[in-house]
Amino acid sequence: MTSPDSAAALGPATGSPAAVGPAALRPRLPSPLQTVEDERFARRGLRLLLKRDDLIHPDLIGNKWRKLEPNLRAAAGRTIVTFGGAYSNHLRATAAAGRLLGLPTIGVVRGHELAGQPLNPSLSRCAADGMRLRFIDRSTYRRKSEPDVLATILRDVGVAYVVPEGGSNSRAVQSCTALGQELRGHADVVAVACGTGGTLAGLAAGLGPGQRALGIPVLKGGFLTDEIRALQEQAFGGRRGDWSLDDRFHFGGYARTTPELEAFARDFEDRHGLPVERLYVAKMLYGLVTLAEEGAFAQGTTVTAVITGRPFP
Ligand SMILES: *Cc1c(COP(=O)(O)O)cnc(C)c1O
Repeated sequence: MTSPDSAAALGPATGSPAAVGPAALRPRLPSPLQTVEDERFARRGLRLLLKRDDLIHPDLIGNKWRKLEPNLRAAAGRTIVTFGGAYSNHLRATAAAGRLLGLPTIGVVRGHELAGQPLNPSLSRCAADGMRLRFIDRSTYRRKSEPDVLATILRDVGVAYVVPEGGSNSRAVQSCTALGQELRGHADVVAVACGTGGTLAGLAAGLGPGQRALGIPVLKGGFLTDEIRALQEQAFGGRRGDWSLDDRFHFGGYARTTPELEAFARDFEDRHGLPVERLYVAKMLYGLVTLAEEGAFAQGTTVTAVITGRPFP
């Protein structure tokens, strides 16, 4: 099932399973930290830094690297089964990891109606990377963590390692503490876009005293605070770090956008030469600029924006 040879070919490896694991993919860590000149911040005496997690790895981008890395090791060659929507960055990253490390992957996709249709570009990429795709209806998808539903999904898979939707299990959250540790001494406020909140849960735990994390949820609903508490509880045994959410910048919900957000993202790209991922990063940057303009940060504050992804394709 595993093919250690193909993984070993990617980097220096001694032949033990750990050595042919994700470290062989040579991530760029710690990720670069860049200062940018942005008058919307400078005018208020604020400094803006970009934490370029999008440069960690060309295929396992941003927080997807941080969250998958410990799970790839834990899978130890087993088939990886995971879940996502039709445009999931997590599914694409998992599929790429499968290709690079020679691990079989199965992606369970929300939406039975997608079966038998031409694949969208994101799912095509997954399939080209060798991921086997299964489409399930939305009500079953919602119940995918229930043991009997999961057992049905996995019926003919054999021995598998299951990674939850978005990749946010305890291993992933613990791994994201490194993001916070890399930023110790470099920021007062660290902003990150939130889907499941796993990245924020780990980031906040890794920051030092006096630093705080600010999450910008891209989904509508306001249920994320409880989920992040639960993720921290599972990963660390209790609440960690100073973090909060600002729920005003979801623009209608996941993958929704508005002409205003689109114009904002293009303008940010023009100003700073940064390719702005639209599902998450654009909303987080919009939120930060708005907060700066509202005077939410005291003069002298260093604000760091975590660039968790890159536009696809
Ligand atoms: C997945 C993803 C996120 C959200 O991460 P969570 O840990 O699920 O909150 C943020 N930004 C980008 C670009 C992503 O792909």
